[in-house]
Formats: sequence, structure tokens, C-alpha cells
Amino acid sequence: MARRKKIYEGKAKTLYEGPEPGTIVQYFKDDATAFNAEKHDVIEGKGVLNNILSEFFMLGLGQIGVPTHFLKRLNMREQLVRSCEIIPLEVIVRNYAAGSLCKRLGLEEGAQLPRPIVEYCYKDDALGDPLVTEEHIAAFGWASQQDMDDILSLALRVNDFMSGVMLAVGIRLVDFKIEIGRIYDGDFQRLVIADEISPDSCRLWDIKTGQKLDKDVFRRDLGSLTDAYTEVARRLGVMPNNPPAPGKPQLVN
Ligand code: UDP
Repeated sequence: MARRKKIYEGKAKTLYEGPEPGTIVQYFKDDATAFNAEKHDVIEGKGVLNNILSEFFMLGLGQIGVPTHFLKRLNMREQLVRSCEIIPLEVIVRNYAAGSLCKRLGLEEGAQLPRPIVEYCYKDDALGDPLVTEEHIAAFGWASQQDMDDILSLALRVNDFMSGVMLAVGIRLVDFKIEIGRIYDGDFQRLVIADEISPDSCRLWDIKTGQKLDKDVFRRDLGSLTDAYTEVARRLGVMPNNPPAPGKPQLVN
């Protein structure tokens, strides 16, 4: 078989040319990085869990009419997605205070925010992904006013969907990051949710105990990251080869 053409290698994923024009294969690696890649480790199984969880969230978003780049999962580590032009912004939605927001505004970690807050960071590792305002985004032409209106409404829809899905399994969605892609259809463009949605890019806390079930486990050395992500996947019923619950009768076809 011919070797696939690598398009891009990021910190947690590698992108390859897809089988059809306009498609890309996303390969989920086991690498974990934090603090702008100053901390790095390989965590066996993380890529498999993120691939399956991201598929679950993207499919769910598609079902409620939020457009995404996701086409299908190919195997345990790869998914086929539509190729798109990534808008160079990290779109962050926050429901509770955590991370950089606490540092910036002196808020107590875990305080509920008066309403969801959407922030934008300019995607540039060398600059440490600085926070930017809509003024910067408009002035530098990263997105138009129409794009910004669409991005805000997409981000809030993703927030409502993800918050509900998580609440149903006893998990609080504290905050998350998404990336937005442009897809061109002739003269028209539309915006879709791109990249991935996984515990790498969300803060997820158990509602009862406050236990962290996201990448903060790695950032802060709080235990096993695979155990945390496995717990999220198990609660959502998307564990790879989800074993049947013991004692339950099984129908045999
Ligand atoms: N986030 C991310 N990638 C980044 C920066 C942030 O996925 O490059 C996610 C992060 O996991 C959290 C949310 O965005 O769920 C808000 O992150 P924050 O600004 O608090 O930054 P951090 O404290 O993680 O540096």
C-alpha cells in the first residue's frame, strides 16, 4: 500500500491526506503536552479514548444540527474529516471559573459564572496563544463580523449540548475550547466545528466529588490520565469494546 502523505503533525494529532479530495485523516496520538509543550509525556491509550470521545460528541452535535467536519471513524486511532481552513482562533467557553480566567481576574476556582463567557485566543504557540478581542480579530481580518456572529452562536450551542450530555452522567462542564473551520462550497463558505472535542480540550469535574476527569490530571500530576478519560467514556457508554454489565441478560441473534 502506498504511504499516505502527511499534511501536518501537531502535539496530539497527525493529519494525513484523505482517500478523496477534500478529506483528511486525523490520527490521534498518545502524546500529552501542557504549558505550551514544556511538559510532555506519552500516555498509552489516550489517543484511542480521544478518537472515540470526539466521534461521540461530533456525531451528537450533527444530530442536533450543529455542523462539524466529522465524516466517520475509520479505526481505533483514526477518523475521516472534511478538510477545512482553520480560523486561527481558539474559541473558549466558560461556565465556571478555572485556569487562566482565575489567574487573570482573581476568581476562586469553581465559582459559577453569571452566564457562559466566550473568549478568543489567537492560535500561535510561539506567542503562547494570547487572548484577543473582536477588535483584533476584525482589524487583522482573521474573521468577519458575520463569521464572529456565527462563531458565537455555534460556541453557545456546543456549550448547551456538551453541558447537557455531561450533566446527564454526573459531570460538570467547567469550560472547553473549540476550533472553527471554513468549508467552501463554490462561492459560498460555511463554518463548522473542526479539530476535536475531548477531555484534552475540556475541563470536566465530577459533580458530587469535584474529581477532575480532564487534562488537568496530567497538567497537575493528579493521577492516571487514562483512568480519568476511561471514566468519562464509561459513563457516556462509549468505551471501546464496552463490556456488557455483569448479570444482564443478553439477546442472541
Ligand atoms: N484549552 C485547550 N487548548 C489550549 C488552551 C486551552 O484545549 O491551548 C482548553 C483548556 O483545556 C480548558 C479551556 O480551554 O478546558 C480554558 O483554558 P484556560 O484558558 O483556562 O487555559 P489553561 O489554564 O488551560 O492554560
